[in-house]
Amino acid sequence: MKKRVLYWLQNDLRLVDNEILSELADFDGELDLVFVIEPRWFRQTNYQSKSFGTHKFNFLRESLAAFAQAVEKLGQTLHVITGEPEQVISQRLQKYEIETLVCTEQVGVYEQKQLNKIKALCPHVTVKTYQQDTLFKASDLPFQLDNLPKNFTAFRKKVEAEPTFIAAPLPAVGHLPHPVQLCPDNPIDDVPAHSGSFKGGLIAAQQHCNAYFSSKAPSSYKETRNELDGFSNSTKFSVWLAGGTISAKQLYREVEVYELKNGANESSYWIKFELLWREYFKWHAVQAGVKLFHFKGQKQSAPLTTFNSQRFEAWCQGRTPFALVNAIMHELNATGYISNRSRQIAASCLVNELELDWRYGAAYFEQQLIDYDVAANWGNWQYIAGVGVDPRGGRHFHINKQTALYDPLARFIRKWQGDVTVSELIDVVDAADWPIAT
Ligand code: FAD
Repeated sequence: MKKRVLYWLQNDLRLVDNEILSELADFDGELDLVFVIEPRWFRQTNYQSKSFGTHKFNFLRESLAAFAQAVEKLGQTLHVITGEPEQVISQRLQKYEIETLVCTEQVGVYEQKQLNKIKALCPHVTVKTYQQDTLFKASDLPFQLDNLPKNFTAFRKKVEAEPTFIAAPLPAVGHLPHPVQLCPDNPIDDVPAHSGSFKGGLIAAQQHCNAYFSSKAPSSYKETRNELDGFSNSTKFSVWLAGGTISAKQLYREVEVYELKNGANESSYWIKFELLWREYFKWHAVQAGVKLFHFKGQKQSAPLTTFNSQRFEAWCQGRTPFALVNAIMHELNATGYISNRSRQIAASCLVNELELDWRYGAAYFEQQLIDYDVAANWGNWQYIAGVGVDPRGGRHFHINKQTALYDPLARFIRKWQGDVTVSELIDVVDAADWPIAT
């Protein structure tokens, strides 16, 4: 019988710079390509949100459909299976007598636990993981991961002082081994007609990358990146990076090629600087483990806050007393994407004005954002809540000041109808009536 390998795809839905596919291209055996859709993604969590909202799921389906088409041209099949990964992957390994399981190393502790369960259920299977969601491999960092600097600036200075090795992105694979014989097809359900501002998938990712770097936008990125709105004011790479339809290494290389052609300036450098933020949060997530989701985060004491479901609901729906925050939340709910400035303002409002538990906000972003990334989302939320890797201990973005700076003519507020009539006092139920009688 031919040797068999199962590649469990997650946030690596690409052919270019895919170390696993490159390594398997000449494998003399059969290859099973599997993506698992987990039922828990659609169940409400303790934080009243789900892992996947509609925009995020549609975007994923587009990414899967594009990947499935791309591998089909190479004679392969993507199997999209629904179930708990530890069950469906282990069953598949056993049923088809597959000896090896390969996947991208995940930084999230939950995802790591899933892989450990599979290892325990299938002790005879060789499991190999690849660090291909980051710019650097852990072994190339100029420090042991246990000694990860406590804040971003210290991290950046270290990796820039001893320029840390970033491997060249690998070319697209041109051929793949045959699929495992006798496996019935598990195609992706019909993908709804594309409607959002962003199209998922490896082709759309490459098209966006080509368009962005053939424009002059990278040369003014630093001056525009803080705006609330505007497609080319920031790179918009995050939406494709999240599903791995493009890699961080590819983008980093594209910036360098752009700099060679057009000259480097502070703005083009700043794109690399932001990719280092992404990198820092990735390694931070590995180190923080479950603490990434703890109320106290990295700190010894918990923030002073409580939970009020009416305030949370008002924030989610964009019905707070703050027009700018409402506009931001309307955009998030309508599109699945908001700018970095908008994320900071909305998160700061939840923590500082509404005095809510930051984890509810983080979970709502997890549900809504099409670029959701466990490390960046929970890491940034902790940062703003003052329980993360911020040396200043939390951030308060004063809403009036932010409005005056970034939306002085209220264009953004009007565009997203932020000035809905809301009561000045957000709490309809007096605190003394808590909990609310139903
Ligand atoms: P650009 O400004 O063009 O930046 C280029 C790239 O650098 C981004 O694509 C991203 O990969 C990286 N980057 C930039 N800023 C950050 C940052 N603060 N942290 C980590 N990486 C960064 N980013 C996500 O990718 N997924 C998330 O789930 C996410 N949740 C966030 C939640 C909050 C509360 C905050 C404040 C920020 C969050 N970010 C998240 C970071 C940042 O807002 C987005 O990466 C950025 O807005 C995406 O748009 P862009 O690609 O145009 O960014």
